[in-house]
Amino acid sequence: MVSEPSHIPREVAFLFNDIFTTETESRREYPLLPSATLRLCGKFKSEGIATFGIMLSYWEKEHFLSYDYIVIGSGIVGLSTALSLRMHKPHASILVLERGLLPTGASTKNAGFACIGSLTEILDDLRIMPEQKILELVSLRRAGLRRLRDRLGDEVVGYAENGSYEIITESEIIALDHFYEINDMLRPLLHSDAFSRADELISQFGFGGDVKHLIRNNHEGELNTGMMMKGLLNLCMESRIEIKTGAEVVSVTEEADEVEVMVEHKFLSERVPFRCGQLAVCTNAFTHTLVPGLDIKPGRGQVLITKPIPGLKIKGVFHSDKGYFYFRQIDGRILFGGGRNMDFAGEQTEQFSYNERILAELKHRLATIILPGTPHEIDYTWTGIMAFGEDKFPIIRQHSSHIFLGVRMGGMGVAMGSEVGEKLAVMITSHT
Ligand SMILES: Cc1cc2nc3c(=O)[nH]c(=O)nc-3n(C[C@H](O)[C@H](O)[C@H](O)COP(=O)(O)OP(=O)(O)OC[C@H]3O[C@@H](n4cnc5c(N)ncnc54)[C@H](O)[C@@H]3O)c2cc1C
Repeated sequence: MVSEPSHIPREVAFLFNDIFTTETESRREYPLLPSATLRLCGKFKSEGIATFGIMLSYWEKEHFLSYDYIVIGSGIVGLSTALSLRMHKPHASILVLERGLLPTGASTKNAGFACIGSLTEILDDLRIMPEQKILELVSLRRAGLRRLRDRLGDEVVGYAENGSYEIITESEIIALDHFYEINDMLRPLLHSDAFSRADELISQFGFGGDVKHLIRNNHEGELNTGMMMKGLLNLCMESRIEIKTGAEVVSVTEEADEVEVMVEHKFLSERVPFRCGQLAVCTNAFTHTLVPGLDIKPGRGQVLITKPIPGLKIKGVFHSDKGYFYFRQIDGRILFGGGRNMDFAGEQTEQFSYNERILAELKHRLATIILPGTPHEIDYTWTGIMAFGEDKFPIIRQHSSHIFLGVRMGGMGVAMGSEVGEKLAVMITSHT
């Protein structure tokens, strides 16, 4: 255990004792630490790395480390925040720091539904939220999709309206009793029916006998997640936003006028101190490593994709079971994901690994409900990590003088993300 240097406040020294327990050589680093309050603290990994940028050149220190704005996380929210910052501050310097080689959370792993909420999902939400809150959520999702489409264009994101449906099995038939009521509730926002009946399409799509009814979601579409994220990255580059990948932020320290954002330089085995005037934390499910104590729980999503299926009849995107299962047609394949509700506790994890029980259920439903009698092969599988809380609203707020949070997107960050980024950027720039 390293003893506390006298000039470091007690609570800060406590954190650093934790951090440096296995780094007995690190005592000399203390004078480099800021004397102001440490608001946030990442987990320094105990690999004997404790030098702060000593191998950096004069040129690097002068020209590579200081920015007006830094955004942590290059998911849809981080990139959208950076783009909105650029819109509001055309001449500012903006840096996005991403720990992964590619974005490594949910934004490149999702299903690409441009959705605002299915009938059974909204009914489920009504158990925990008043009507007004649901309208606010639906409105946020719509605003996000509108902003995304306006920002990149439908062609760039592969947006299409090939039909969005909800499958109703025996256990959900009761939801149909509320069909008109929910349409009435959403009409002031959507100006037409959110849902209509589409039972006539059940046989056309070739679904199994478990599908008793089909509901059409009239205000939803689909997009190509890969094209969307590539589009956002390309626009960032065109907009003079720097993006560094493989840049894991290990700690954040707020000082009087700026923020120090420490990034691990794995190759040089040292930490590089970036600095900015304002910081946006857009790390969704992984935020607790930088900002402890928020109401954010990770939630893993399992996904499989088939090989192309000749003569596939299914077109569009499909929800079932309160939105916990979802599938779509993409490039002549079926992408099928979900099932978190089969094991909430097991799926409350940040590990990109598989839940065999859920995967087996996905395969079973694929063979019996979605593609009964149609030969198909699973091509491959993956998982992505979402972030949930007590309610379904994202956290968009100022955390301290120079640090802002845009996190906890739940299962609809594709829909909300662009609007969350805009709201966060407006909040940040109004404090600049
Ligand atoms: C299987 C699945 C299906 C989904 N389907 C849909 C859908 O159809 N429609 C929809 O609207 N939403 C869907 N979602 C949800 C949506 O994908 C997410 O809500 C959204 O992508 C969250 O975006 P984000 O930018 O907040 O977080 P993320 O995409 O998780 O981005 C956070 C980024 O921060 C980086 N990061 C974390 N910690 C650090 C650090 N210390 N230093 C540097 N970088 C760091 C991570 O590597 C990551 O790239 C789905 C999600 C999953 C997993």
